[in-house]
Amino acid sequence: MDRNRTKKGISSRLRAGTAGVVCLLCLGAGSASAGAAGVITPGEPKITDVNCLSKCIKTRVGIAGSTVKILGDDLGQVEAVSFQTRDEARVTDRSPTVRQDGVVLSKIPQGAVSGTIRVIDLYDQKADSKVVFKIGTKKDLEEAQSGWIFPVRGPHTYGDGIGADRGDHSHQGQDVLADCGTRLVAARGGKVEYNAYQASGAGYYVVIDGAETPYDFVYMHLAKRSPVKEGSTVTTGQKIGVVGTTGSSSACHLHFEVWTAPGWYNGGNFSKSVTKMLKEWDSFS
Ligand SMILES: [Zn+2]
Repeated sequence: MDRNRTKKGISSRLRAGTAGVVCLLCLGAGSASAGAAGVITPGEPKITDVNCLSKCIKTRVGIAGSTVKILGDDLGQVEAVSFQTRDEARVTDRSPTVRQDGVVLSKIPQGAVSGTIRVIDLYDQKADSKVVFKIGTKKDLEEAQSGWIFPVRGPHTYGDGIGADRGDHSHQGQDVLADCGTRLVAARGGKVEYNAYQASGAGYYVVIDGAETPYDFVYMHLAKRSPVKEGSTVTTGQKIGVVGTTGSSSACHLHFEVWTAPGWYNGGNFSKSVTKMLKEWDSFS
């Protein structure tokens, strides 16, 4: 069995052109025992997590047509991603994008149902995700887009609210304290207006123009730059980053603001209802 895989590895390599160059190094290392399995082939691919990137119902729930982001080890040679189907066959995306950082992006084909996600690499090595990625319906997606969710997805407490003294200004939002690294999701889907960094204040921050609302929603002090692109649309509940303490901040927390139309520092005003809104979402989500 192992010998078989090794042979496959070699023939793939011969076909593979530039990818072969990388693996000549592996061959060199193993040349003393050319027949030994596991020496010639590169590292086994491993999936550590899958996240929805577009048309998302939740972080691990999408629809056919959604893009999923596959994280793991040794994914650099992945050339296909397959998904479960209702009849226990699989549907395969044969043109996934493999990013330079080793992350694989794949578009979910029609016919895929909830289940694990499998990557297949150039050497025919396969790996399945441990987590299940769920496939919802278009209606689920519409509902997700029209909904609300509490943005801090972990244990939290409320800190300063509107009007707290900040020396040269008064506080314009509500602080929610949570451990650094706690997942942050969009309380309301909409268009990403800003994904930026401000060393002297907001740290890494995101501003989202809430779909079908008069509001902009502002998330500050993220641990690192948000994965969402300016100009793109995110859905309610989609991951926009993790809690941090970047910028002018002395503890791990989300500083959250709600701004009225026409928007954040664009003619609108910060809303004093921000705490009430957060507590309402907190009560059901
Ligand atoms: Zn604050």
